[in-house]
Amino acid sequence: MAPSIGVTSSIREGTLLTMGMDNAHSVVNAGGVPLVLPNIANESVLDQLAASLDGLLVTGGGDVDPTWYGEEPHPALGEVSPERDQFEIALIRRFLQRNKPVFGICRGCQVLNVAADGDMYQDIYAQSGRPLLQHSQKAPREHASHYIDIVEQSMLHSIVQNIRLKVNSFHHQAIRRAGAGFAITAYSSDGIVEAIESTQHRFALGVQWHPENMTRSGDPAARLLFEAFVHACRASRL
Ligand code: MN
Repeated sequence: MAPSIGVTSSIREGTLLTMGMDNAHSVVNAGGVPLVLPNIANESVLDQLAASLDGLLVTGGGDVDPTWYGEEPHPALGEVSPERDQFEIALIRRFLQRNKPVFGICRGCQVLNVAADGDMYQDIYAQSGRPLLQHSQKAPREHASHYIDIVEQSMLHSIVQNIRLKVNSFHHQAIRRAGAGFAITAYSSDGIVEAIESTQHRFALGVQWHPENMTRSGDPAARLLFEAFVHACRASRL
């Protein structure tokens, strides 16, 4: 049987769950079965999801509430979703405890880091203190706009078989300090963190770009990332 992979969702207008179809297609094309998750941080819901799912894909979305990493809101902070933050952080912590695979995309990368007690920039342009590239690209979703440099010998390096990639970019927040047991494994040329991974778990990886939008244009690295994730989900059942 194919691995069952929980895919997190956004809450729109306070009442609607939304999830980009590219996430689901990318999981299916890599051999997994996606299940969209409800953003209800009820203990028994969280416990059963963590016990029954084989992996967790934490998708993109709005900003993370800075309260989670001990800060008050900066004026440039965007829209936050307290229910979603609470659900995802609680669920990620359960997956990490069980050493089940977690793959975080964009906001998901940041939430994974915050769940591991790391912190972040609420707005990279206001807070990084240096000139930056355009990280909120105006080009189509699947278009790769800036380069990243990947740390050699990292899991990310072994998956994509490359130390330099061109990726898409749709973020104004980014990781500042990696969480406990996590290493930074990619940077853009302006020094913004573009990937983290756990040094303790079999697969806990976050990427700041959106590979789910790049699989449709046949980007090899994007395809390899989803294949490695689904492979880890299958292996975690054994
Ligand atoms: Mn970027």
